[in-house]
Amino acid sequence: MRVTVLAGGVGGARFLRGLREHLQVSPPDADVGAAARITAVVNTGDDMWLTGLRICPDLDSVMYTLAGVNDEARGWGRVGESERVSAELASYGVGWPWFTLGDLDLGTHIARSHLLREGLTLSEATSRLAARWDLGVELLPMSDQSVETHVVVDDPDTPGCQTTMHFEQWWVKHRAALPVREFVQEGLGAAVPAPGVLEAIAEADVVLLAPSNPVVSIGMIINVPGIREAIRTTAATVVGISPIISGAPVRGMADACLAAVGVATRADAVAAHYGSRLNGGILDGWLIDEADAGLAESIESAGIHTTVAPLWMRDAVTSAALAADALGAAGRIRRRRSGSSLRPESRQQAELA
Ligand code: GDP
Ligand code: CA
Repeated sequence: MRVTVLAGGVGGARFLRGLREHLQVSPPDADVGAAARITAVVNTGDDMWLTGLRICPDLDSVMYTLAGVNDEARGWGRVGESERVSAELASYGVGWPWFTLGDLDLGTHIARSHLLREGLTLSEATSRLAARWDLGVELLPMSDQSVETHVVVDDPDTPGCQTTMHFEQWWVKHRAALPVREFVQEGLGAAVPAPGVLEAIAEADVVLLAPSNPVVSIGMIINVPGIREAIRTTAATVVGISPIISGAPVRGMADACLAAVGVATRADAVAAHYGSRLNGGILDGWLIDEADAGLAESIESAGIHTTVAPLWMRDAVTSAALAADALGAAGRIRRRRSGSSLRPESRQQAELA
């Protein structure tokens, strides 16, 4: 069985760890192929150059978490980290003082930047870095081209004017407090999916949308030309997990991003934003938390099979259970539709018949 997951940073990383755990403990049934293969297509919209280094926050969150070297308590970076180099950089007035890079983390960025300067693509560099660890998941950046999320806001220093900043500046320095005029994907026009991304979606049995930020993580991935269409037309079953529970993000400030694109911070609104594959959207199924069970009927009526399950990933056990629930939902949708073609257009005809 091949499972392809679209993932951002922390939500994506926790979910992928749970999925790997679940598939190790409960290998798939023989009817969908005994060996499980997991591919993660990871958001690179938060990437940037800082102090001469290429930094890929979401790829690194996923890599550190799957390698078991992430800082659980802090929620980002490496465990057992020190910050001597950052302190030196700050003394020289170099870099962003509010964006601390740990010493071990800087090792990753130096290695990546070196590989990129040697001429490797980001996906080649990513697989070189990942090879050090035993991840059990293939990591693919969404694109090898730079597609950075920039945020247009009212200039806090010059009333009446707008200014554009990198996403991390808006998110970390300003704590997402400056109202967003627009998210811009700088470089999107020239970007193509990284090698293997379209195949991983087309050849999967199941495509999962991790409970990641719908706007600046999943939204960025599906905007890369070709990716949304690949999800729309894959023969795989496509199931998403809501990052919103009881009208609030579980961690982080996704509500500020959703507000900026006119989507309410509710599990049903995010499902409607992604849309049903029956109507040109990207979802066959959607998982909502037990606290949101009352929303199931309206999501179902929009043509999205809805499963109610505990969505909090508190630890390895709850994360693995969530992955099991997502795969279970995909299995039920697949069985319900078996016999008819899995292409959404034909399914629509079959269901109307
Ligand atoms: P980032 O790139 O580090 O911001 O991480 P992601 O985009 O992958 O994930 C951010 C989203 O994950 C936020 O909107 C959270 O609501 C969601 N999230 C984090 N932890 C959990 C969890 O335990 N359960 C669910 N359902 N969502 C979560
Ligand atoms: Ca991110």
